Amino acid sequence: MDRLIFSEAQIEFRNQFRKWVEKEVAPFHPQWEEDKQVPKAIWRRAGELGFLCPQTSEAYGGLGLDYMYNAIVVEELCRVGASGFAMSLHSDIVAPYIESFGSEALKQKYLPKSVTGECILAIAMTEPNTGSDLAAIRTTAIADGDDYVLNGNKTFITNGQICDAVLVAAKTNPDESHSGISLFMVDAGTKGFTKGRVLKKMGMHAQDTSEMHFEDCRIPKSQLLGDEGSGFYYLMEKLQQERLVVVLGAVAGAEAAVNLTVEYCKDRKAFGKPISKFQNTQFKLVEMATQVEVARHFVDRLLVSHVKGENVIKETCMAKFWTTDMLSSVVAECVQLHGGYGYMMEYPIAKAYLDAPVQRIYAGTNEIMKVIVAKQMGL
Ligand SMILES: Cc1cc2nc3c(=O)[nH]c(=O)nc-3n(C[C@H](O)[C@H](O)[C@H](O)COP(=O)(O)OP(=O)(O)OC[C@H]3O[C@@H](n4cnc5c(N)ncnc54)[C@H](O)[C@@H]3O)c2cc1C
Repeated sequence: MDRLIFSEAQIEFRNQFRKWVEKEVAPFHPQWEEDKQVPKAIWRRAGELGFLCPQTSEAYGGLGLDYMYNAIVVEELCRVGASGFAMSLHSDIVAPYIESFGSEALKQKYLPKSVTGECILAIAMTEPNTGSDLAAIRTTAIADGDDYVLNGNKTFITNGQICDAVLVAAKTNPDESHSGISLFMVDAGTKGFTKGRVLKKMGMHAQDTSEMHFEDCRIPKSQLLGDEGSGFYYLMEKLQQERLVVVLGAVAGAEAAVNLTVEYCKDRKAFGKPISKFQNTQFKLVEMATQVEVARHFVDRLLVSHVKGENVIKETCMAKFWTTDMLSSVVAECVQLHGGYGYMMEYPIAKAYLDAPVQRIYAGTNEIMKVIVAKQMGL
């Protein structure tokens, strides 16, 4: 079914981006999986072609477009399983914090280079002892003269090795809970900031998910984003968009898994006929295609509401847990329909199966999504 929510210009953008992904990203992704990171050169190339930070305003070198363009980018990357290229984290999650809450000097410093891909962004909230409970972070940023001094450890940080700057959540007042948290921009190479181990993961091997350490890391006060003590509230304000990234990717990933399984089942023969002719195979594929179609309609509605600036936090949390659960069950069923080949890494469905579970964990776990929805329902 045609998705009528996209304008002609957006459809053209999708065509251009899809062509580029098929030519310059997808064929090289298996090598990046081996390397455990995406090369910086491809970021520069994406910047050169105008694919990074489409929302960033023209004053800072961007195109000042709406979130529909970001949505196209995440869908197209997920369509080909390019799970290591964290463009969306850079463009849709970190850059908007800088543009919304940063001083003019911080915007000038980071945004133009984020648009060109010269500055790759990361965000460091999670710590070894806490993820869901952000207010319990222990990293501190204590004011000292014209500086803040950061101490603490972060983990599971996407773009952890290749980032040029990281947005760090730290406690400026360790005695406070939510209102003790502030956000800072820390440049790679700052004394006292070290990038730690690249973590060995179940899937998403091209993503350089890493630890980060801050030891008496001194940064000027001008690196504070917005107001001291407002960090938690800034993070909450932007979560709708962060979760939509995962939701859009989950639906696109599930659709891709169904499509490639349909092709496989038409091709593979058993008992003298294609396995797509068995009623069980047909029913499974029909059920999965239906789930994708239903999800797509709900998610497209959310996308339009988000672009209009509406508050769809409750519905986005619903979509986050439902679509990522759906993705996990779809890829598992698709592996089954591939038989033994589904278990072989040379088949894309095996990689999709390993990339899927984390969608239920990051950007707020699916359990936390239900906690939020329950609150919104007045329970
Ligand atoms: C590949 C990957 C990339 C990531 N990238 C980043 C990144 O770039 N930056 C960053 O800051 N973080 C990142 N994360 C971290 C991610 O956001 C956290 O892992 C996630 O928020 C969960 O936190 P946790 O791992 O500490 O789990 P915990 O918070 O310890 O949760 C463990 C379990 O307890 C459940 N639970 C916790 N609280 C409740 C509750 N109140 N009610 C019901 N159940 C609950 C959870 O749902 C989960 O099932 C990444 C993680 C991964 C795996």
